[in-house]
Amino acid sequence: MARYTGAVCRLCRREGQKLYLKGERCYTDKCAVVRRNYAPGQHGQSRKKLSEYGIQLREKQKARRYYGVLESQFEKYFEMASKRKGITGENLLQILESRLDNVVYRLGFATSRAEARQLVRHGHFTVNGKKVNIPSYLVSPGEVIAIREKSRGLEKIKSILAQTDGKPVPKWLDLNRDTLEAKVVNLAAREDIDLPIQEHLIVEYYSK
Ligand code: SF4
Repeated sequence: MARYTGAVCRLCRREGQKLYLKGERCYTDKCAVVRRNYAPGQHGQSRKKLSEYGIQLREKQKARRYYGVLESQFEKYFEMASKRKGITGENLLQILESRLDNVVYRLGFATSRAEARQLVRHGHFTVNGKKVNIPSYLVSPGEVIAIREKSRGLEKIKSILAQTDGKPVPKWLDLNRDTLEAKVVNLAAREDIDLPIQEHLIVEYYSK
């Protein structure tokens, strides 16, 4: 499956804000946004004022990068969102939140979405008792996401759980930290999504 393999800190610097793509490091002063808060590249420090189109494009890119989704897939999500009832921008965020890699991250079973994606690919999680190794799998209300029985003793998993202990879990997911499983209570509503994304700008971008 195609994915972005470049330097992820450049993506944050390009958006001019932290996208939290690297787990622990993002919370330290080693963060590239803290150290060099200007766009990467030769002209990074002389950024021009953005046009209306530029602002919409940047918002779309920011959302795409938060969730680690490539352009073609993001477009498909937008199409799905526009066919659903309700507000397209909110539908789009709801679909992105429903990705299994995002759910794993939200539950504190990974320290970043990128790590969640890798752990899902390696088959460390089940959905309703069955192994699912597709990061883009979209969860549905009623489904139960769990760390696989045989993965629970792994040092890597134990270390992640120690790091994420106490991390708040959104209310649309009902996590049991003792059994390491969580039920999807409902799909995320806009107020459940804490990311600073102005989704109406993304809708305007695709409506041109
Ligand atoms: Fe972004 Fe994290 Fe890198 Fe900071 S450390 S620039 S938040 S990925």
